[in-house]
Amino acid sequence: MAKTCIVARGDTLTKIARARLGDPSLAKVIADFNGLPDARQIFVGQAIQLPSARDLRPVVAAPAPADRRRGPPAWPAPPVGFQAVRDVFGDLLAYVRDDGSLAPAWETERMVKAALPFPIPLAWDTRQSVTGIRCHKLIAPLVGEVFRQIAAQGLQKAVQTYGGGYNYRPKRNGVKPSTHSWGIAIDLNPNTNAMGTAGDMDPRLVALFEDHGFVWGGRWAGKGKDPMHFQYCSGY
Ligand SMILES: [Zn+2]
Repeated sequence: MAKTCIVARGDTLTKIARARLGDPSLAKVIADFNGLPDARQIFVGQAIQLPSARDLRPVVAAPAPADRRRGPPAWPAPPVGFQAVRDVFGDLLAYVRDDGSLAPAWETERMVKAALPFPIPLAWDTRQSVTGIRCHKLIAPLVGEVFRQIAAQGLQKAVQTYGGGYNYRPKRNGVKPSTHSWGIAIDLNPNTNAMGTAGDMDPRLVALFEDHGFVWGGRWAGKGKDPMHFQYCSGY
């Protein structure tokens, strides 16, 4: 909040600027700040608002990191349905060769490693850990954000093992490729969350993923229930 100064006999804005702001050259700034057309036209007893340090900052300042974070999200909204997944994350099927194998360009053009704030032991060899999750580049910032939140909320222990991120699985007859093939799915704690079981996924972890737009496979019914699985799309 701006401070007020009452003009005394003999005061000028230059004197006030020197005495109160430590810089006589700010007289013009004070005049502008008070809407005074002429810095010399002040009178005894007049209340003058003194700009604060914040007001004196250049008008065009670099945005603070906090302001930048408030901008539009750095990742797309979760798509709904098979066609929308192809529209947003790319047409995987165009990269599948006649023998069912995948052209390497699919992975080199789209997949990146999202860095993790803490290492996660591999489900199939817990002596080893991953420090990043291979996923689609469009959601890599989101994956990083989710795991930062997991750490910030003290839920790191709920993430016991890593079961996989991007993984192309050859398409079987009539079966749609897994969302892992798009790099938009992550499996966690697979050892205790097998398909078709209720599993033991921490509900706080589920809530955190769902808050960030992920669908949890543990909500699916019957044999398709997949409690280790989180994917960034629905209707698929
Ligand atoms: Zn999965």
